Amino acid sequence: MYDVIVIGAGPAGMTAAIYTARAGYKTLILETGAPGGQAATTDTIENYPGFPGGISGPELMMKFYEQAVGFGVDMEFQYVDGIEVEGHQKKVKLGDKIYESKAVIIASGARPKVLGVDGESKFRGKGVSYCATCDGFFFKDKEVVVIGGGDTAVEEALYLAKICKKVTIIHRRDQLRANKIAQYRAINNAKIEFLWDSVVDEIRGTENVEELTIHNVRTQEKTRINASGVFIFVGYIPNSDYLPREIGFDEYGYVLTDSMLRTNLPGVFAIGDIRQKRLRQVATAVGDGAEVITALEEYLLEHGGN
Ligand code: NAP
Repeated sequence: MYDVIVIGAGPAGMTAAIYTARAGYKTLILETGAPGGQAATTDTIENYPGFPGGISGPELMMKFYEQAVGFGVDMEFQYVDGIEVEGHQKKVKLGDKIYESKAVIIASGARPKVLGVDGESKFRGKGVSYCATCDGFFFKDKEVVVIGGGDTAVEEALYLAKICKKVTIIHRRDQLRANKIAQYRAINNAKIEFLWDSVVDEIRGTENVEELTIHNVRTQEKTRINASGVFIFVGYIPNSDYLPREIGFDEYGYVLTDSMLRTNLPGVFAIGDIRQKRLRQVATAVGDGAEVITALEEYLLEHGGN
């Protein structure tokens, strides 16, 4: 029996676990992948305070992990199938195992959205990627495209420009959504080109990706572009499939919380990218992870028994 089970070892989940374990609560984190979540797949994080000059995502997340383990947090790497809330008892199911706890903190984040075009799944791992830090090196001195116009697309394009011969950003509009600093850097990067008002119709190749067919949404003109790599950054989907239906979700599947990060289920909290919020960053995930301790302690004092 744990006091707290945290689902997800991204920056939000690991921060929450550091706080709960440090406060003396027996804490377990469950995670499917490696610790760090999406932040661990980010090349450089420049806007997390305390690291002038930036820090690599994997390095920062390893520090979070070491700190959590240092405070006695248990970690297990397995997919969570479901959560059952029976009054003040919570059951977290993983395969044929069940862990019990007094409180659950949902911190399972979000995953990259797929485009849904022909060739995308066929060439996944053969030129199609959703992580520049993981796969960029395979395209050293080659030509790649990046799809999307948000912070992730533009920042990952800047990273790829350091490795690849040429990076073409294909965006469905003629204005980027990305922050102004990233925009400025990309527009002034000699290796980055833009294809505005354009969408991908098909990703083609034999063994590996060789070309994309695209069309201009204003003129309907169709073109082909050669590329060895296609990096898709068109947003994220919350990892909320395993959650009980009774939890309050918004229309996109993000978990609804009150200002104390409580869900509508007693003793179940949600933090980080999984919850409906305005800004999804490492700093705001860490903020959620720290903040949740107040309502959690209140709940445990009232219902936790000891
Ligand atoms: P995002 O902000 O949702 O942007 C997704 C981009 O993909 C948009 O430009 C969108 O076009 C485009 N798009 C969506 N669906 C598409 C489709 N089917 N076909 C073609 N294009 C499509 O996602 P994100 O860039 O991954 O960022 C997610 C969150 O993380 C944001 O809150 C972001 O600020 C944050 N983030 C922050 C930083 C940072 O602060 N350094 C870094 C990375 C991420 P439209 O613009 O036309 O909608």
